[in-house]
Amino acid sequence: MATMITSECINCGACEPECPNNAISQGEEIYVIDPLLCTECVGFHDYEACAAVCPVDCCVTDPNNVESEEALITRARAIHQDVAFSESFESRFRKGGETAAPSSAPKKSEPRPAPSAAAAPASPGGAAPAAPEIAGPLNGDESEAILTPLPGIETWEIPVRCFKCNESYLVAVSRFMIGNVLFCPHCHKSMVVKDNLNFRIRTLLKELYDGWERDAAQIRARRERELRDFSERRAKELRDFETRQRQALEKIKAQLRETSESYDAPGRPAKRGSPFGWG
Ligand code: SF4
Ligand code: SF4
Repeated sequence: MATMITSECINCGACEPECPNNAISQGEEIYVIDPLLCTECVGFHDYEACAAVCPVDCCVTDPNNVESEEALITRARAIHQDVAFSESFESRFRKGGETAAPSSAPKKSEPRPAPSAAAAPASPGGAAPAAPEIAGPLNGDESEAILTPLPGIETWEIPVRCFKCNESYLVAVSRFMIGNVLFCPHCHKSMVVKDNLNFRIRTLLKELYDGWERDAAQIRARRERELRDFSERRAKELRDFETRQRQALEKIKAQLRETSESYDAPGRPAKRGSPFGWG
């Protein structure tokens, strides 16, 4: 897919100098990408350079313009005839593949962090909440990771600090029912779940889930709207272009007819004047 810029563009210009093919320019309203020059950075990077620097994430793949890696590297070779692309040229298609060059994509900003035991900040000396594993991106595109649904709330594990030995251990969220007894695996000291601990934990998780779903719904709606707007704009541009082409054809036909009809060819009989006139 070629890359396109959606109407969310704020005209910051950050993407333009990043393009290895000079495919980006300032359009009438926003920056635009020439699809005949865009190679999705194949040959140069294993990521789209414009998307990597765009502060509002409006450089997105165009689902209406799907192109193969072969077509894109062929285009890159045609544009950069002075560059010798090796067989293991960089390509977003082979990101993470055996022959792919190591990714050097700049970190514009960290994506929304998925909760995970490794990523969650550990409390001083204690265990971090063990979040359930999150499924990979829906379509392999990192920009879609935000649309990944969270796994069930019951799959979370909560860190507990033993007040006797001061060690931490993880307990399934479902065990936090008032009156449940938890045992420290290190010193076997018991602890009873009291008060509204269960309520507080579930409230925190519910807020996370509600916000996650709300954000995902908003971004889905926004992306659909952008794609629809883009398709409509492109269809209109195509219609206008066809109209101009038809008008140009009609015009040239009329000009050719006029030229041939008015041509004063040698031997052509002169126009006769009126028998009642003076000419
Ligand atoms: S994806 Fe790469 S080649 Fe295409 S416009 Fe963006 S920077 Fe240029
Ligand atoms: S970086 Fe993004 S917002 Fe800035 S001009 Fe390029 S497409 Fe528009």
